[in-house]
Amino acid sequence: MSFAELGLNQALLNAVSREGYTTPTPIQQRAIPVVLEGHDLLAAAQTGTGKTAGFTLPMLHKLASVPLPAKRYPRALVLTPTRELAAQVAESIATYGKDLPLKSTVIFGGVGHQPQIDALRRGVDIIIATPGRLLEHINDRICDLSKLEFFVLDEADRMLDMGFIHDIKRVLKVLPAKRQNLLFSATFSDEIRTLAKTFLHAPREIDIAPRNSTIETVSQKVTYVEQRHKRELLSYLMRQGDWQQVLVFARMKHGANRICDYLNEVGLPAAALHGNKSQSARTKALADFKAKKIRALVATDIAARGIDIDQLPHVINFELPNVPEDYVHRIGRTGRAGNDGEALSFCAPDERAFLRDIQRLIKREIPVLTVQGFVPSAAADKPEPPRPPRPPQGGRGRQGGGQGRSESRGGGGGGRSSAPAAAGRGDSWNRPASPQPASAAARPAERRNGGQPARAESSGGGFAPGTGRGNLPAHQAKPSGGGRPGGSGRPGQHRSGPRGGR
Ligand code: AMP
Repeated sequence: MSFAELGLNQALLNAVSREGYTTPTPIQQRAIPVVLEGHDLLAAAQTGTGKTAGFTLPMLHKLASVPLPAKRYPRALVLTPTRELAAQVAESIATYGKDLPLKSTVIFGGVGHQPQIDALRRGVDIIIATPGRLLEHINDRICDLSKLEFFVLDEADRMLDMGFIHDIKRVLKVLPAKRQNLLFSATFSDEIRTLAKTFLHAPREIDIAPRNSTIETVSQKVTYVEQRHKRELLSYLMRQGDWQQVLVFARMKHGANRICDYLNEVGLPAAALHGNKSQSARTKALADFKAKKIRALVATDIAARGIDIDQLPHVINFELPNVPEDYVHRIGRTGRAGNDGEALSFCAPDERAFLRDIQRLIKREIPVLTVQGFVPSAAADKPEPPRPPRPPQGGRGRQGGGQGRSESRGGGGGGRSSAPAAAGRGDSWNRPASPQPASAAARPAERRNGGQPARAESSGGGFAPGTGRGNLPAHQAKPSGGGRPGGSGRPGQHRSGPRGGR
């Protein structure tokens, strides 16, 4: 099937051909006719399937198919959970609608109000927005949605996860009764179906990906590694495979900062992307990553939601998510639009329960990759006996990635987040027999080498495991000089800081 067969106008056909799209993706083949026919739509499609064009193209077609009003007013609204996704959808709309006389604007928080107010006052046809700032403009009577024709809720599952349900309901209240509604979600949970019933009218249903299945083009692997060795493993893999673009997922913001600091310190340019960063820092991090000015983007789940980078080859789950659905979203960052991608999860002994939950959700076992030299010792694999709480340890600090294990989404201390906090007790774990991960002493030499390992040995690239000490870069094989990996007192290791959310 071709785009022309779908009945899209010539301006849109030119746009998709400029983008190099030759064939509509399955979601596009099914969603475009439904939207063009004017039906409401409930679509389960994971990110990376081409869903944005699936709703944008027919929406633009319909908006442009009637004479445009002299004074522009919002005719279409796309609500997204994150600023990044809003910016990306806006970019797609600008790209596909380049030859159409439609105006769009993007509205989200963290940036000045005035440019948005000016744009809304000048008049726009399409608004792409996150809920909070949009509601401010609605309440200030800057934004009037009473004549809206299209309402699109993108990544609705994540909207609910992020607690936007009340904001969504507030927005729905100011929309006209007659409009076309489209709801996209990675999965159809019971909550999504309940939400769908509140505003979709006789929707057509499309389920492109079977529920909770992970994208077929992503090769998934898990490697067992002690928490305190994860950073060294990451830098090792990045060098061994010469990875130029890696998206690294951390569970917590401060953990993301620490990983990022470490990578920069060892000469692997990286930036962090999370909710504590200013909007301009987030935009810059993403732009630098896309432009390959940095090799790693270290992100939390929510900040990374919706990131669209063509041909992103590697995703690393530095920590396994404690919410198994997040795993599906994370690995969906790679293997997009039919490209192959690799997703590797670092699983510390105390994360096995998370791994089990993920495998149960995706209904398959993730193959294990063994990276010699980073295999946890048998003792580390055994669950720890409960210990009485220890007093704070002056100056020692957390180990390795140092991620807080007791924090979980929503701040609840119970549930699965109560896994033993083994990562913070490095002394009860056996270190790998060999090699020792990079020591602080090894780093200056590494920096002098322009960030390259002192001895470039290849195991054939990719994830191919080495054969022990001899196969590792020199900095990996050096004795650690008595320093504890990830121990205290290193530059760039912020030990405390508020235990923020994601
Ligand atoms: P999405 O699922 O909307 O985030 O899209 C994922 C990626 O697929 C984006 O980078 C799009 O540019 C790309 N894409 C969308 N439609 C097509 C198509 N028909 N052929 C090739 N690539 C596409």
